Amino acid sequence: MAKYQVESWGANYFSVDDDGFATVTPDPQAGASVRVADIVEELRRRGFRSPFMLRFPQILKDRVRRLNEAFGEAIREFDYPSTYQGVFPVKVNQQKVVVDALTEMSGRHRYGLEVGSKAELVLGLTHDLHPEALLICNGYKDRDYIELALRAAHAGSRVILICETIHEVKDVLSVASEIGVAPAMGFRARLNSKGAGKWIESGGNHAKFGLSTLEILEAVAMLEAAGCSDVLKCLHFHIGSQISDILCIKEAVKEGARLFCHIKRRVPSLSILDMGGGLGVDYDGSSTSSDWSRNYSLEQYCRECVYSVLTVCRQEEVAPPMLVTESGRAIVAYGSLTVVSPLKIIGRTSPGEVPIGPDSCHQVRELRSSLNEIKPENWREVVNDAKALNEEIQVGFKLGFVSLEDRAAGEALYGDICRMALSLMNQEEEDPEEVSELRDMLAPMLVCNFSVFQSTPDTWAVRQVFPIMPLSRLNAEKTVDATIGDITCDSDGRIDDFLGETGTCQKTISLPSFDVDEPFLIGIFLVGAYQDTLGDFHNLFGSANEAAVWVDGPKDFRIVNQYRGTTVSEAMALFGYERQGMVSRFEDRHGGDDSADTARYRDCFLRVLSSGTYLRR
Ligand SMILES: *Cc1c(COP(=O)(O)O)cnc(C)c1O
Repeated sequence: MAKYQVESWGANYFSVDDDGFATVTPDPQAGASVRVADIVEELRRRGFRSPFMLRFPQILKDRVRRLNEAFGEAIREFDYPSTYQGVFPVKVNQQKVVVDALTEMSGRHRYGLEVGSKAELVLGLTHDLHPEALLICNGYKDRDYIELALRAAHAGSRVILICETIHEVKDVLSVASEIGVAPAMGFRARLNSKGAGKWIESGGNHAKFGLSTLEILEAVAMLEAAGCSDVLKCLHFHIGSQISDILCIKEAVKEGARLFCHIKRRVPSLSILDMGGGLGVDYDGSSTSSDWSRNYSLEQYCRECVYSVLTVCRQEEVAPPMLVTESGRAIVAYGSLTVVSPLKIIGRTSPGEVPIGPDSCHQVRELRSSLNEIKPENWREVVNDAKALNEEIQVGFKLGFVSLEDRAAGEALYGDICRMALSLMNQEEEDPEEVSELRDMLAPMLVCNFSVFQSTPDTWAVRQVFPIMPLSRLNAEKTVDATIGDITCDSDGRIDDFLGETGTCQKTISLPSFDVDEPFLIGIFLVGAYQDTLGDFHNLFGSANEAAVWVDGPKDFRIVNQYRGTTVSEAMALFGYERQGMVSRFEDRHGGDDSADTARYRDCFLRVLSSGTYLRR
């Protein structure tokens, strides 16, 4: 797998230069690249240590531009008689640097925001949007949420309150009449169509959100009875994230458009069709309908949306709506990169000397001689015999007649035999399952300075595959197949899903040989969507050191924002341990003692409180 398939998943933002360094090109139109390792080097000069979270605002802007230009192009191609306006669903990444970069595009593309809670609404209201840009309010709502949204609308924001339930329709009408503000309302429809891939259950008739067909009719009747059906402006649906198959998008859009036409006949004020998110990201670079890819491009997605809506509206003879999408993942995934550094390798990577005493048991002696006899022709028999011998040794140890030394020798020799088998066989010609079973069993774990739960929670929660590759030595021969472990005290704190051959994943990553004492860095790419807020504080490991990076020209970059990661006292404060309280407690216990030892203990205690939560290297 040459260069970790970066040309397939890098989307012109990430690449490898001639000297084998990973590069980033945050603005592909300008074309200037820098080495990621140079950015990390600059951060180290400023006193920051791994793990790092690098953010590229130029990538975010480029994504917004591409999505809008692709919709613009499709609208021209099909002569679509209305317009497109996107919104960014802030739940996908609420970080201020991220939302700031995105809303700077609001003026040019009338790009808006989608929010799903009171806190997200407040977040949305703190950003300057173009007066025509939409602020779409989704999620379950109480009267405070509704009142704040209505007052914002009254003050000039273009707010659309999407009703998720019949109760919300009632509540919106009642709060609106109390405060004397006319709402702009949308209905979220529960479609029959489902997505495809990991989040298939978000859609369909059993979805958590949205109005059923019967409820939509009921809600329309409710508006009509109140004499205000013209508050209804928007029909919305969202069938799930990372939709891997374009056919599912097409079906959902057609169904949504049909529903739109039927309702619009009764409620002519309906003029917006909000098709939700779901635009997929090609994490595994395969361009297939595998869970971590999608079998279409961003441009095809836009054409499919425009064409399907237009076709249905023509059949129904209804004026086509303004189109809205809420793409989140496809906008922000590329914009962030986590960089971790290896601390040590656990497990043997090559056969070594195994000490065997003169009185070791016959199984150990047999294993030793098998190691000398293994050949390309007999590796399978030798491995199977060795497995049985090792099991005998393990059982013997439990029963008390095999020594600790023999157990150690048995385990080491069995591993060496398997390793020899792998190197002797022609891996291309053997059964791939047998090969990968041996490889996975032998794989050492590369322990890196980070927490899976903080930085890449979806690798643990949904076994998401992110592209992972070293930031240097990418031309070097790969000699180690390893899994990646983090430094939490949790056996789930590991990554063992990596890109395999096209569209498949494998348990190990192939790495060049390196010395853990030299600077060697590994990048976990495309982590800009969902990872920030889903990340947690397991073992009290906090956020990584962070930097937003702006590239001005070839090899020329600026760090426009830098944030120190969570300190020990900040991590503890989140769980009720205030720094002041911890310090006073220390003084209560030891304050009376003015010995030099206590002074050193105090210094060390205070230093650790103020330092980062990760290992200092
Ligand atoms: C989560 C969500 C989105 C974003 O989906 P992506 O797959 O990230 O594009 C859009 N709309 C709604 C209603 C959502 O809940």
